[in-house]
Amino acid sequence: MSFPIDEAIRLLEQTVAGLQTPIVDLIAVQTRDPFKVLVATILSARTKDEVTAAAAARLFARAETPEALAKLGLVELEKLIFPVGFFRSKAKYLHALPAALAECFGGQTPSDIDALIQLPGVGRKTANLVRSVAFGLPAICVDTHVHRIMNIWGYVQTDTPLATEMALRAKLPEKYWIRINGLLVAFGQSICRPIGPHCDQCPLATLCPRLGVIPRKTGQKGAGGKTAQNPGKEQLFFSWNVNGLRAALGKGLLEILQRTDADIVALQEIKALPEQVPEEIRNLPGYQSFWHPAEKKGYSGTAVWTRTAPLQVLYGLNVPEIDREGRVLTLEFADFFFINAYFPNAQPELKRLDYKLAFDAAILNHLNRLKARKSVVLCGDFNVAHREIDLARPKENRGSPGFSDEERAWMDTLLAAGYVDTFRQFCPDPGHYTWWSYRSGARAKNIGWRIDYFVVDERSSSRVADAAISSAIHGSDHCPITLRFR
Ligand code: SF4
Repeated sequence: MSFPIDEAIRLLEQTVAGLQTPIVDLIAVQTRDPFKVLVATILSARTKDEVTAAAAARLFARAETPEALAKLGLVELEKLIFPVGFFRSKAKYLHALPAALAECFGGQTPSDIDALIQLPGVGRKTANLVRSVAFGLPAICVDTHVHRIMNIWGYVQTDTPLATEMALRAKLPEKYWIRINGLLVAFGQSICRPIGPHCDQCPLATLCPRLGVIPRKTGQKGAGGKTAQNPGKEQLFFSWNVNGLRAALGKGLLEILQRTDADIVALQEIKALPEQVPEEIRNLPGYQSFWHPAEKKGYSGTAVWTRTAPLQVLYGLNVPEIDREGRVLTLEFADFFFINAYFPNAQPELKRLDYKLAFDAAILNHLNRLKARKSVVLCGDFNVAHREIDLARPKENRGSPGFSDEERAWMDTLLAAGYVDTFRQFCPDPGHYTWWSYRSGARAKNIGWRIDYFVVDERSSSRVADAAISSAIHGSDHCPITLRFR
């Protein structure tokens, strides 16, 4: 069924009427001056609206026109616009702007996209916004909110903002082009937030398929903030290969965890000892944490945070050459086992394939032993794409580490042994990945691999309410995956 865009926009108009107007729209309405809209748009990139508003007010108090702006020195400009994001680069753009306007456009702000993108600091997003907001001409400004929410709705299926702009140009009725950015920025900043969207309060809840969204939990809390772990009560599990816990902390991990508010958080490849990380993550409020770092410093390692105290914790698989790499943590709860695993990488030329296959065999034995007693939930970075639809370029990667016949055959063995790849219970389609190489802009082009999984034993598959990939969350070369389990 196609997404009902007219109905969605009608509801959005009602919703944002009570929300804060995005700063660039506000400046356009207040000033009706394309030059000020252009300057405010340059300032607003990667900056909160309240910071942009204050910086724009300081700057316009000194320079309301290109001529006045030309009289300001670079250092003065930096001081006036600080602390907007990338203030030094933006000060340079603004310093060069009056001359560029005078030279190419007679000192006037142009309305044409191709003309606007010739100006310093003006990319396609800024150009579209200036054209639509300042001049009222048809243009679709696709920023992170428009790109993200249009994909959550399934109205477009695109990997980059540029692809979203082109798809919307072909599909979105022109009467919505100018408004759509302001509507979705206001909505994306307040309700459909990038992390932990308020689906429970959303007027579009019945229309939205919520593709790739981590739901904000609405379950009741028990005493002391702990969620009572009753069978049948839904819990949210979150798994992420962070590619270095300390690096991830520098990229907003704490905020992501706070907003996700998961019952269990499982991280892999932490590359740190507990004493090497700040207190605020070691003792995350409301959680108990358990750590299984590798003996070798800065390498591998797993950790789990849980709101409910486990009955027992098992460190490793009882295989010394595996356990010294800190790859497996098992927590036993009243009615299930939770296993966090970081499977080895087979390495170039499959140099470590034997080690990986030994790990595969050992963890399957472990699962089978636990499954005989109660439900089993296994999550983590399996370092293998199972089927051709699980990576963007299967033919080129056939036989490579992570897509060798031997590793894929083990995934067949796992499923044949009575385990379920939960994501595939909900989504049979290609194009959903959890890892992208840092090289060649692979993530922006969505040239990725699905190598992170939540797997449960077959009998417990009816306990799975949802399994999702949170590809909108950045901070590692992997993205998080989630499971709702009851
Ligand atoms: S239901 Fe959730 S994901 Fe969908 S638009 Fe509303 S807040 Fe966003």
